[in-house]
Amino acid sequence: MDAEFGPILAARSAGLCVECGKCVTVCPMAEMYPDFGWETSPRGLVQLALRGRELLAGQGLWRCTQCEACTRTCPAGVDCCGLVADLRPLARAELGGEPAAEAVCAMCGAPLPPAPVLAYLRRALPQVPLEYLDLCPACRRERYIRNNS
Ligand code: SF4
Ligand code: SF4
Repeated sequence: MDAEFGPILAARSAGLCVECGKCVTVCPMAEMYPDFGWETSPRGLVQLALRGRELLAGQGLWRCTQCEACTRTCPAGVDCCGLVADLRPLARAELGGEPAAEAVCAMCGAPLPPAPVLAYLRRALPQVPLEYLDLCPACRRERYIRNNS
């Protein structure tokens, strides 16, 4: 295991994964991505990370919403959410940046989550006006305060 990966895997207890799949049952990416599969699931991300740097070139790291559901559910104490967060800087360095954003905040231009995630949020939160979903969290807060003051 290379020197960059080793400490991250240890800090997030990746080696304790017993492949029970409980994290997969709670991961919201299953509802967001029609092609959700082993290699983009939390279980797959942990197992691929244990195999080495190949994971850094894939889509899985960038799809994760960082919701922490997998980490809270794991009976073995693996912190998959933290693992993804720690590996993203390595992937960014390897790719020379993040994959291009499909949509940007209508106010500040910051990248928004991928289209399947935005579509999921629109389905899951029908009570939230669209004008809020097309904004990044900081601008959403600003607009909400402006609209309600
Ligand atoms: S990360 Fe945890 S919940 Fe997910 S497959 Fe491994 S042991 Fe099971
Ligand atoms: S943190 Fe990422 S991998 Fe874990 S449950 Fe949430 S979306 Fe899935």
